[in-house]
Amino acid sequence: MADLYKILGVEKNATPAELKKAYRKLARKYHPDTNPDDKQAESRFKEISAAYDILSDPEKRKQYDAGPSAFGAGGPGGAHGYDSDMYRDIFGGGGFRGAQQGAGGFNIFDMFGGGGAYGGAPERGADLTYILNLSFEDSLKGVTTKIAVDKNVQCPVCHGSGAEPGTSPITCPECGGRGVIAQNQGFFAMSSVCPRCGGAGTIIENPCHRCGGAGTIRATKKYTVKIPQGIKSGNKIRLKGKGQPSPSGGPPGDLYVKVEVAPSPRFHRRGDDLILTVPVSFPEAALGAKIEVPTTDGNISLKVPKGTQNGRMLRVKGKGAPHMKGAGNGDLLVKIKIVVPTNLNKAQREALENYSKLAVEDPRKDLV
Ligand SMILES: [Zn+2]
Ligand SMILES: [Zn+2]
Repeated sequence: MADLYKILGVEKNATPAELKKAYRKLARKYHPDTNPDDKQAESRFKEISAAYDILSDPEKRKQYDAGPSAFGAGGPGGAHGYDSDMYRDIFGGGGFRGAQQGAGGFNIFDMFGGGGAYGGAPERGADLTYILNLSFEDSLKGVTTKIAVDKNVQCPVCHGSGAEPGTSPITCPECGGRGVIAQNQGFFAMSSVCPRCGGAGTIIENPCHRCGGAGTIRATKKYTVKIPQGIKSGNKIRLKGKGQPSPSGGPPGDLYVKVEVAPSPRFHRRGDDLILTVPVSFPEAALGAKIEVPTTDGNISLKVPKGTQNGRMLRVKGKGAPHMKGAGNGDLLVKIKIVVPTNLNKAQREALENYSKLAVEDPRKDLV
């Protein structure tokens, strides 16, 4: 492990004032402003700043002094000397190195916490959406059904802590539990999310063998969902708290059951009204008729008034889809479709020819 005291050129028992003095002297010497385009000086400057960041904080210094174990399961590699790989191990894998790159060192998301993992309230778990396919009939009647949802659930072995039973997460030695680290970048003091703990403030030394430290495992959960009568395609039922668990001890997300209703071969839904196209013969339309039409609950008798035109809508009150909220139903709209005979026998043709001679009104009188 790198010797942070050595980096600053001080004794292990140096006072805070001595540390500060040593840091200032070295920072001046290796500052990028005084060593433009000198990569070596630049990385030296960063080492110095990082070393001072730890040693100037009494809590961090104490942890550092306690030895490598306090810094978690460090990295492999030689135990002697100092090289940049060792340095990276101390500072939490690729995270720190990544953060060092790019102009200014840290991007704005790092500075303001990325996912908001530190500071403020713990994150809420993510919402889930489940698509439930319903038959047209079930959408009208309503139905109670079971659904199976793949989601994350709390690990039964570690109960969500991510630590192997018998061990517990420890305070992150790099940030002292604050979740952020301060970095001196030239004249600016900047903060970024702690690369070691990702802002959580704690790290897990012995990850749970079941979940690998995630605290959750993938599982299939079954829920009973009550679908109200009259539900439409695209409507969602919310199962509060049945979404993903929070990664940081906050409330779980919600599960939305989104309904997709199979189309009916007969009825077309418009709001809570149902549209049904009904074929009617020319004599029925002309003379008027009583015809039988289907509804969603049995056949009814419908009066077609004489002189009904093609495309006319006849409204049957209360025979549409049930209102999802409140009592009652929409209406059934019967759309008249006049069918023209295609295979006339002799007698029929003669009858129509006779009718044609008697028809005095010109159907195109308004056109020409
Ligand atoms: Zn676990
Ligand atoms: Zn940390």
